[in-house]
Amino acid sequence: MRCDLVTVGTELLLGFTVDGNAAAAGRALAAAGVRLEAHATVGDDPAAIRAAVAAALERTGTVVVTGGLGPTRDDVTREAVAELFGRRLVRDPALVAALEERFGRLGRGPMPEANLRQADVPEGAAVLPNRRGTAPGLWLEDAGGRVAVLLPGVPAEMRGLLEEEVIPRLVRRGEARTRAGAPAGGGTGGQGAAEPASPPTVIVSRTLRTTGISESALADLVGDPAPLLGDGVTLAWLPGPEGTDLRLTAWDLAAEQAGAALGRAAAALRPRLGAWCYGEDDADLAAVVLEALVARQARLAVAESCTGGLLGARLTAVPGSSRAFLGGVVAYDNDVKCAMLGVSAETIARHGAVSEAVAREMCAGAARSCGADAALAVTGIAGPDGGTPEKPVGTVWVAAGWGGRVRAFHYTFPGERDVVRRRAAQAALDALRRALSSGGED
Ligand code: ATP
Ligand code: MG
Repeated sequence: MRCDLVTVGTELLLGFTVDGNAAAAGRALAAAGVRLEAHATVGDDPAAIRAAVAAALERTGTVVVTGGLGPTRDDVTREAVAELFGRRLVRDPALVAALEERFGRLGRGPMPEANLRQADVPEGAAVLPNRRGTAPGLWLEDAGGRVAVLLPGVPAEMRGLLEEEVIPRLVRRGEARTRAGAPAGGGTGGQGAAEPASPPTVIVSRTLRTTGISESALADLVGDPAPLLGDGVTLAWLPGPEGTDLRLTAWDLAAEQAGAALGRAAAALRPRLGAWCYGEDDADLAAVVLEALVARQARLAVAESCTGGLLGARLTAVPGSSRAFLGGVVAYDNDVKCAMLGVSAETIARHGAVSEAVAREMCAGAARSCGADAALAVTGIAGPDGGTPEKPVGTVWVAAGWGGRVRAFHYTFPGERDVVRRRAAQAALDALRRALSSGGED
């Protein structure tokens, strides 16, 4: 089963609202084995909506449209799509009653006239009841079997209707077509000989998360991925400030086969990634480090300069972090580095605050002042100002103390202030992960 998506809203084009509906719809459709082939975003403009929906119907014959079903003048999706399908809008008395009941129940007083537009249904459309809001979903089908599904833009309403009403219908259509002998991909016809029903397929992903290595260096390690992946599995490279994710996706296989294919591909890929890979799917490096600390009954303290608490925030965002995380010091000013962490003023004067020597003293000071067995320190220049030719913006020193040893690492991170800070916090966590897994030996 294939489909298209059109998200409607001028706020999406202007960048005021991030198109979370597209991401949520993509995930939900893939999980149900519906292949989303293209996604367009248009403003609250009838001509643009008609053109996008027409193009989508041309491509896959099935389109989900979100947004613009509300009561205000800028909500024009219903009218635009009805016109494209050559349908009149007819006011549905049951929907009027439901709207009035909802207004009464929520104590909102008399219903504004404008809301009645939400009871208008294109002739022949099926109404998909919306338990979470006022605008129902609408399912329109033309004589050639092409389908447009209209959903409200409010994310929770969109997701609810998609999961509960739309996806089950799309999946049933896909199965009916397969039985009728049409290609599984879709198309509108289907005159082939009847075939036994094949089991429903899914599109599922498994992600290997790496950090501390560039995407291109990682690509060199992996080499040609094709022989590792096997049939029906693809690989996507997803670099970000905290590392590169390798997402394996199994396409159009039955759930059990898909899981096995992903398992084989992950098992083939992981040895190539070695210790650069710290976990899978939504694994969080802070959680990985905390788990390793708990396993060793060790407790952690931090000393942060350029990350200003980000490292502590990453750690405390993990439920149960108090089992291993003691706390730390945000030592931004040099006087604080000296007074709270015992960094010597002479070390700062000689090497500068962003230096290996200061990172090491901060690390030792954090462990001492908190009584911790493991410690992390970060000092760097996040920018945009403060860089010099010897220490450009992005220069960061990390020190990780564990097992009676302090290891220090130097980085020159690219990116703006926020990105440098995020990379620095991730690098610090990774330094401790590696120190813990080496048992303090190397
Ligand atoms: P309603 O019936 O509640 O008025 P609607 O169908 O008219 O819903 P919109 O008016 O387009 O939907 O959007 C309602 C809210 O949902 C807005 O705050 C909008 O920013 C948000 N929204 C709309 N589309 C998206 C999207 N694609 N991703 C994330 N948020 C969205
Ligand atoms: Mg709107």
